[in-house]
Amino acid sequence: MADLETFRTQTQGWLEVNAPKSLAGLPLAPDGGNWGGRRAHFDPPEMKPWLERMAERGWTAPTWPREYGGGGLETDQAKVLREELSRLRMPSPLTGFGLTMIGPTLLRYGNEEQKREHIPKICRGEIRWCQGYSEPGAGSDLASLQTRAERDGDDFIVTGTKVWTSYADLSDWIFVLVRTDPRAKKQEGITFLLIDMDAPGVSVSPILLISGKSPFSETRFEQVRVPVRNVIGEIDGGWTVAKALLGHERSMIADAFGGGAGQRKGRGGSPLADLARRYLGNGSGRLNDAVLRDEIARCELDERAFHLTVQRARDAAKAGHQPGAESSLFKVYATELNKRRTELAVRIAGPQGLGWEGPGFEAEEIDRTRQWLRARGNSIEGGTSEIQLNIIAKRVLGLPD
Ligand SMILES: Cc1cc2nc3c(=O)[nH]c(=O)nc-3n(C[C@H](O)[C@H](O)[C@H](O)COP(=O)(O)OP(=O)(O)OC[C@H]3O[C@@H](n4cnc5c(N)ncnc54)[C@H](O)[C@@H]3O)c2cc1C
Repeated sequence: MADLETFRTQTQGWLEVNAPKSLAGLPLAPDGGNWGGRRAHFDPPEMKPWLERMAERGWTAPTWPREYGGGGLETDQAKVLREELSRLRMPSPLTGFGLTMIGPTLLRYGNEEQKREHIPKICRGEIRWCQGYSEPGAGSDLASLQTRAERDGDDFIVTGTKVWTSYADLSDWIFVLVRTDPRAKKQEGITFLLIDMDAPGVSVSPILLISGKSPFSETRFEQVRVPVRNVIGEIDGGWTVAKALLGHERSMIADAFGGGAGQRKGRGGSPLADLARRYLGNGSGRLNDAVLRDEIARCELDERAFHLTVQRARDAAKAGHQPGAESSLFKVYATELNKRRTELAVRIAGPQGLGWEGPGFEAEEIDRTRQWLRARGNSIEGGTSEIQLNIIAKRVLGLPD
């Protein structure tokens, strides 16, 4: 305990000197700011020194081993660090699929050479990763994927198409599932492969969404030569690695869309109640519409309860517990909660909640409309809600097929 207090004091001292004060409480652009990578865009620019200083200390991945660029912190020390960052209202120095998906998967399934090659670059934010799972004919039924990888000496030759690859146009490397044995039972002929997006034969075409943005792409592989040493786990044994990564992805989605409620609260009270005061306030501090009042209170309470549950799971994960089928439960709940929250925000703002462009709307209002539309995709990405409910029925509740 005394050690932990010493750690807190040292952390406070270091942050006092190194955390750029201009970043405190700043909302970051949803798709920018701190994703890192070769084409990193630092907005605002102080994000760059903030990332570099935190990476130098290993605190972009606080609990990962020091030998790979992590901070080597114990779970309770990492919690202290989170608390101190939150107290100072500092944005996360780095986010993305490296930290949340492929990094944890490499730590568990990668060999020593793969860990030494990729994990330090993830921790320093040098390489941005994307995920090549879905295909035009394989989404919910992922094991039906058809992208082929044929052995040619020390390489595989990869041919096929992936779709809905989030941020493929901004990423440097991709982790993909490929079919290496077309004769085996479908789950058994799949291999998990890492591919450099600069490799000859990789091409990316962005797809435009209802929100007016284009955060994902179709990714094509035409005779792409990939070294066999880029296989994670066993050849034809990629399904196990793929499922473990999906557990991390679903936990990440739950965390991003529902589990961060406590942090949002820390950044200035209850956002929905603040919005209601702004658009519907009558000066008394109380809303006239009792039904809306009730809906806001329910949403805020559900958010906080869920945040605490996610926090508990996060602590368990830091202590070495790998996310299992319960990550499906979190994913369903978080995405439904996010849809409720964004829907309520738009209702509260009334006509100003439907801004698309033009001088009649503030940037924040246009952003709110787009977030509401973007939330429609939450119950599809990372595996649809129907699929999660199937997993919960079978693996959590033990119901028969
Ligand atoms: C915002 C966003 C980002 C994404 N990012 C990525 C990414 O980076 N990389 C990547 O690989 N993929 C990504 N995806 C793709 C996502 O994983 C797939 O869209 C998802 O798995 C569903 O697959 P599908 O679109 O082919 O739908 P389908 O599988 O065709 O499903 C269509 C409908 O049928 C239902 N359904 C299907 N099977 C069953 C069943 N057995 N029981 C009950 N209902 C069923 C589904 O729930 C759905 O409603 C992203 C998707 C979105 C929306």
